Amino acid sequence: MILAERLSADDHVARELIETEHLIGLLQLKASRLAAELSRTKLWDQHGYNNAGDWMRFNCYVTNTVAWDRILVGEKLDRMPESEQAVYDGEIGYAHLKVMARTADVVGNAFDESKLLPLAKETSPGKFYYKSLHYRHSVDARSYSNEQAELAENRRLSLSTAEDGCLLISGVLDPVGGAAVRTALEPLARRSGVADDRGLEQRYADALVELAHGGKPANLHVTATVETLKGLAGAAGGEMEFSLPVSSTTIERMACDCSVTRVLLSQESVVIDLGRSKRVISGPAMRALKSRDGHCRWPGCERPASWCDGHHVVHWIRGGETDLDNLVLLCHRHHWKVHEGGWQLVKTADGPLVPIAPTITFGQARGPD
Ligand SMILES: [Zn+2]
Ligand SMILES: [Zn+2]
Repeated sequence: MILAERLSADDHVARELIETEHLIGLLQLKASRLAAELSRTKLWDQHGYNNAGDWMRFNCYVTNTVAWDRILVGEKLDRMPESEQAVYDGEIGYAHLKVMARTADVVGNAFDESKLLPLAKETSPGKFYYKSLHYRHSVDARSYSNEQAELAENRRLSLSTAEDGCLLISGVLDPVGGAAVRTALEPLARRSGVADDRGLEQRYADALVELAHGGKPANLHVTATVETLKGLAGAAGGEMEFSLPVSSTTIERMACDCSVTRVLLSQESVVIDLGRSKRVISGPAMRALKSRDGHCRWPGCERPASWCDGHHVVHWIRGGETDLDNLVLLCHRHHWKVHEGGWQLVKTADGPLVPIAPTITFGQARGPD
């Protein structure tokens, strides 16, 4: 009721919402007490259920998680009388009490509500859970470490290829491994400019691919015919390990990107590495390119040089030279836009590159994001 007292008389909705949630909390407390009682008396056994949680699921229409939360809170109430009182007084919510009960369950006899209650009063339930982990660590660092190790043991990552060739990813990482991945992905997943209209999930997906390229030469082996690389009508797609046939525009991008180690061009079963000496930028030239451009040259994009590909403005397959005049740094996404995305990059006399959107027959023109 802390906030409720401060609300002006006409904040009816706010006041009523706070009071209603408070009442729900009290009812949850009551249900917790009863749930623990039911669990202890083994009434559920007489009714033919495997456990109290199952009994609650079928008779109270609650989820498994809710049922076991109620039972646990009810069982731990005698260990946290002051916290229970704080729920009655509206100083903390039932959600705080759930965190307390879980903590009491894990640390056992060492549990001391007087250490946690002040924290609960000043934090949201989510933040309180985070703080409760610090408390658990302070009480018993070894078992906390064992818990973390157990989480790490449950790590998994599954990769499967869908019928259309897309890679399906799902998995669970332990908190430390997960944090490492987030730390690497977050900076790459930022918007690349005001006109960047990708959603967060799309940006994460792009960030992961960019991370996989890692700014280092990607060890991709691509096989395609000269006809495919030139985008001639009637040519078959290219081939790449772990992928379905690759389109000629993608092959063109990969071949353009000097960081791809090899482009194998096969014709009549003869495999040759065509034009390698012509297209690969030598070490000193690459350093010169990176120091000249500094970052992706797409207007408004500042992806650093180490994350960029060297793009041939006139593709080497069409006679473009592999020298500084014909090369610009582009980040992975913008390199994709120029090849697969159909954008054109035009070099102006005084330096800046001007991206020109692909011709569109419907919808609105887009800005150079
Ligand atoms: Zn390119
Ligand atoms: Zn860029």
